[in-house]
Amino acid sequence: MRALICGAGIAGMTLAWWLRRAGWEVLVVERAAGPRPDGYMMDLFGSGYDIAELMGVLDEVKAADAGISALRYTTPGGEARGGVSYRSMRAALDGRVVSLMRGDLDRVLRDAVPDVEVRYGTSLADLDTLTDGTPVDADLVVGADGIHSRVRELAFGPEGGFLRPLGYHTASYLLADPDLAAAVGDRFQVVPEPGRQVGLYPAGGRVATMFLHADDGPLVDDPRAVLRDRYAGMGELVDRALAHCPTDPYYDQVAQVVTPSWHRGRVVLVGDAAHAVSLMAGQGASLAMAGAWVLAGELEKAPVPVALAAYEARMRPFAEAKQRSGRRAARWMLPKSRLGISVRNRLLGVADLPGGPAVVRAATPGTAASIVR
Ligand SMILES: Cc1cc2nc3c(=O)[nH]c(=O)nc-3n(C[C@H](O)[C@H](O)[C@H](O)COP(=O)(O)OP(=O)(O)OC[C@H]3O[C@@H](n4cnc5c(N)ncnc54)[C@H](O)[C@@H]3O)c2cc1C
Repeated sequence: MRALICGAGIAGMTLAWWLRRAGWEVLVVERAAGPRPDGYMMDLFGSGYDIAELMGVLDEVKAADAGISALRYTTPGGEARGGVSYRSMRAALDGRVVSLMRGDLDRVLRDAVPDVEVRYGTSLADLDTLTDGTPVDADLVVGADGIHSRVRELAFGPEGGFLRPLGYHTASYLLADPDLAAAVGDRFQVVPEPGRQVGLYPAGGRVATMFLHADDGPLVDDPRAVLRDRYAGMGELVDRALAHCPTDPYYDQVAQVVTPSWHRGRVVLVGDAAHAVSLMAGQGASLAMAGAWVLAGELEKAPVPVALAAYEARMRPFAEAKQRSGRRAARWMLPKSRLGISVRNRLLGVADLPGGPAVVRAATPGTAASIVR
């Protein structure tokens, strides 16, 4: 059996691994010119952690752990304003969590399938032809191409019908600045202001950034100018980080994807292309890995059309539950007032109190075992 996977991201490479293991011939096409090291820091736990373990790549994933000790809120002037230790979060998840850069997870997954061709700088012209003119010769065409999926557009229609923006834009990039790295230390330092927030993390000697601001508008051509404008006056650490902003940082709307169906004929969507939950829910990468794992499992059991329907039936309730929690989180993630920020910071500190880990455990998601495969 032959599969064409469009998108060499988290979902695409996880699916490539599982399909190769089942004996499929797999070709991955990726629009970017090469591997993409950029992106944000993520906490991989629940289904993502479990599936990395099943794939035998947990040691590589753990080797990329950024070793963050705590989340700390500060004012633009640098005064501490609460936070929570990562020790509490790790205890709540029985140690089954790794904090790593998206690009590192991407690399580990790619390295795990050295015999799968990833054709960079290539996409789908239509469902039967690649942009390099090659005819698509596959029993299965997979859209693993993220929230602005080309495959979804070709199979189901323009993205406007499926994208649900949550009222925020986000950006992230990596920078090299030893003084800033020393100031950040081993903490995830967050500077919140009404309607905007900047996070800085340690990333192997460099600093990873994460920007989030309220914005209902469309994407713009010059994200660096937007960042410099929207995050001006947030203190020395942020100014320093902004001075290193590249011309093309990762910049996108914070949005969910809601599609009435995830498959049509031999075409199927996985990961964000099917059911993006957004960074408000977290776990987009874990869900992308879970979806790929469930899909591959169904394809081992049944012919393609039956397997695609079974995959959606198993995975959709899980993804929709995460989307609901993401929409709830979107209401408090970025408070519009200083009072709201103070309340939010204090609530997060609950995890450090006696009994806090149990609260975190109750609020965190399912494991792979909870998605019946
Ligand atoms: C470089 C990068 C940085 C990111 N940083 C953040 C972040 O800071 N915060 C956040 O919340 N989420 C971020 N994301 C999204 C996050 O990685 C996903 O929500 C999550 O990992 C789900 O993974 P996915 O594989 O479904 O989608 P993605 O990880 O988005 O992967 C999709 C892949 O498809 C490729 N692709 C897109 N369009 C096409 C096309 N037309 N043809 C071929 N290939 C295509 C993309 O280049 C990418 O490699 C980032 C994604 C990328 C690609």
